[in-house]
Amino acid sequence: MTLLITGGTVIGPTGASPADVLVDGEKIVAIHAPGTGPSDTETLDATGKYVIPGGIDAHTHMELPFGGTFASDTFDTGTKAAAFGGTTTIIDFAVQRTGEVVQDGLAAWHAKADGNCHVDYAFHMILGGVDDDSLKAMDQLVNDEGISSFKLFMAYPGVFYSDDGQILRAMQKARDNGAVIMMHAENGIAIDVLIQQALARGETDPIHHGLTRPEALEAEATHRAIMLAEVAQDCPLYIVHLSASRALAEVAAARDAGRNVFAETCPQYLYLTLEDQLGAPGFEGAKWVCSTPLRSKHESHQRDLWQGLRSNDLAIVSTDHCPFCFKDQKELGVGDFSKIPNGIGGVEHRVDLLYQGVVDGKLSLERWVETIATTPARMFGLYPRKGVIQPGSDADIVVYDPNGRTRISVETHHMNMDHSAYEGYEIAGKVDTVLSRGEVIVREGAYHGSKGRGQYLPRGLSSYLV
Ligand SMILES: [Zn+2]
Ligand SMILES: [Zn+2]
Repeated sequence: MTLLITGGTVIGPTGASPADVLVDGEKIVAIHAPGTGPSDTETLDATGKYVIPGGIDAHTHMELPFGGTFASDTFDTGTKAAAFGGTTTIIDFAVQRTGEVVQDGLAAWHAKADGNCHVDYAFHMILGGVDDDSLKAMDQLVNDEGISSFKLFMAYPGVFYSDDGQILRAMQKARDNGAVIMMHAENGIAIDVLIQQALARGETDPIHHGLTRPEALEAEATHRAIMLAEVAQDCPLYIVHLSASRALAEVAAARDAGRNVFAETCPQYLYLTLEDQLGAPGFEGAKWVCSTPLRSKHESHQRDLWQGLRSNDLAIVSTDHCPFCFKDQKELGVGDFSKIPNGIGGVEHRVDLLYQGVVDGKLSLERWVETIATTPARMFGLYPRKGVIQPGSDADIVVYDPNGRTRISVETHHMNMDHSAYEGYEIAGKVDTVLSRGEVIVREGAYHGSKGRGQYLPRGLSSYLV
């Protein structure tokens, strides 16, 4: 079946131009000057709308076990919600728990996702225990399993934490096999001391989650990760969920020095704050407990993060989608903020929330597309199959209506959450139609896809590897 998307403006990282896009089967097969495409096809009228590559969310945690419970979205509910929001690929984190065989952790993630996804998906691998076996496993995952990025934690001692020696060994391995090391950069040893001290003082409310994870301990860990990567012959390093100005300054300095260092931020750090959300009265703030934490509105974080997106010191916006319901899940931390499951759900809203940045004059249209789709594809070895509208690429396409409006609410979202982190937010734009591999799966708010149609995407090496 062929489909011609007519009348729209195609947006890519290099610019915007009026064009008609011809889709045949699962692929984009041609880009035509407006009105010059074949006439014997089905058409989709995109007049007055943007035609962009489907969003790629490079950081999600469906069904992640955390703090005695599980992230509330399954691969079924989470990828369907992603589709509604214009995201047609997710890269989730398979987990090797400490003491577990890496390949067993990966197999468990395939079992969760297989047959359940509405859009295409890939995996990063979390290494919860760096030792000889898991280092060997890194080679096998890169060579045979299509997994070319590994996440390590400088936080969560006793759970996912790796010490500096383990981090260095994993980085050296990545330097050898071409993988990217993704880093949760917070000094978890120091943070745990601050948490114990706060609890001993009787400071148990959600806001203390943020206050015990100060900016300095994110900046310090970011700096240390960058230095360790330098020692590992400039192993490619990608800082996840960067939230703070001084951590960004570390990344910017490394990049200015020509280092192979990249970073992402997330919508929550661009829009939400320590005072307004995490500091909400009573236990309400638990909805916004995530790590790294929301930062103070009295400092320059949000301004600096938007600037970092413009300057490419922040390459990507991902969600770190890790939803927990308020009832029974977030409530595990009543009376002790350290027991609140860490995470915010947002996989459905990233494309819209970043488009609002375009409307607000903080981001260009081209940068919008680049940070939500093209760079994630290039960074994580999915390009040019994904992340771009050009002949030969998968027909993952979003028709986006700049004249539409989106109101975010628990009443209308599709994520399996009993609240929204962005309740009441109004976006001056709207996802109109979503194609995944040529199939219209969302049109004017109605769902036409199906569970199980999403495919596993084995990934190659990063395009940014030098
Ligand atoms: Zn993390
Ligand atoms: Zn995460």
